[in-house]
Amino acid sequence: MADWGTLQRVADSAAADAYQAQLEARFPEVGPAYQPSGKMGATALPWLALGAGLGVPAGAIATLIAGAISLVLFALMGALIALIAACGWVVCITVAIELGIAVIGGAITFAVAGFVPGFVVAWMGKHGRNRSRWAALIFAVPAAIAGLGAALAIPYAITAMVPAPYDPDELSFAGLLHTCFGTSWVHLGVIALGFVIAILVSAITAYGEVGAQKFCERCQRYMDVVALPGASFDRAAWIFERMRARAAHEVPQGLSNVTNELDVQLELFRCSGCSAGFLEGLAHARTEWITPKGDKDDRHREWLCFSAATTPAETEVLAGSRVEEREGGGT
Ligand SMILES: [Zn+2]
Repeated sequence: MADWGTLQRVADSAAADAYQAQLEARFPEVGPAYQPSGKMGATALPWLALGAGLGVPAGAIATLIAGAISLVLFALMGALIALIAACGWVVCITVAIELGIAVIGGAITFAVAGFVPGFVVAWMGKHGRNRSRWAALIFAVPAAIAGLGAALAIPYAITAMVPAPYDPDELSFAGLLHTCFGTSWVHLGVIALGFVIAILVSAITAYGEVGAQKFCERCQRYMDVVALPGASFDRAAWIFERMRARAAHEVPQGLSNVTNELDVQLELFRCSGCSAGFLEGLAHARTEWITPKGDKDDRHREWLCFSAATTPAETEVLAGSRVEEREGGGT
């Protein structure tokens, strides 16, 4: 996988914002041209149900892994704070980092709890030719809820078996468990928020994934993904202009001998039956700057900047510039 985007060294984060804004003005974000029909294959429902069934344990396991990593980082940082405190100091930055680990680690863990079931349901639905975003969403959300519930039940069950330390001590294993998996209003509030995050992420993931699975309604099959060479911003602007002018036959000439241009990722979707397709361009903006403290900071943003249906003739002419072809998948 190529590392997309040409690294731009800029002065500071404000300059990075300006660079980004200038690119977004030149390549405005567009919506996808492909919209799923909403239809469902005869076997879509059983496949979606199977996806939901697999999504529960898959989501629970992924959530436990993400949560365990967050918890280990939280415990290590807590130990560092205690070590410094033992020397009579409280270093504010370490406390801030500890809070950051708790918030970001928690948010990532709950997002994983939504993403994994959402993805599994949409992916399994493809086997039953599901083109309904709402059907995928309806199966993904309960799977996310059940998976997160199962993932939470395990640390709570362990905590219930470990007696709370007599002296509230966050550094012992028992203390850490009772600190993190209690039943105060704060704990319950965080769990409620976690379910909201998981539900939203599972819905967005399932909905978005079905939109990404481009299906040819005429031939009743999924399109293959044909990777084209990457393009510089200037080259991409020219390609998009030629596509809009219905001059796709000129594009391969402009793409021949192009290597290592990483600003705009070009992807062609092609139906192997009728050659109907879509051309999409994903713009990448990568910046790097030195903060006032002397640290390196960087940013990578990507957005869809071109998306259009292609006629069979256009698809075939563009496919001639492919760099690799992988199966769009599905049956
Ligand atoms: Zn077709």
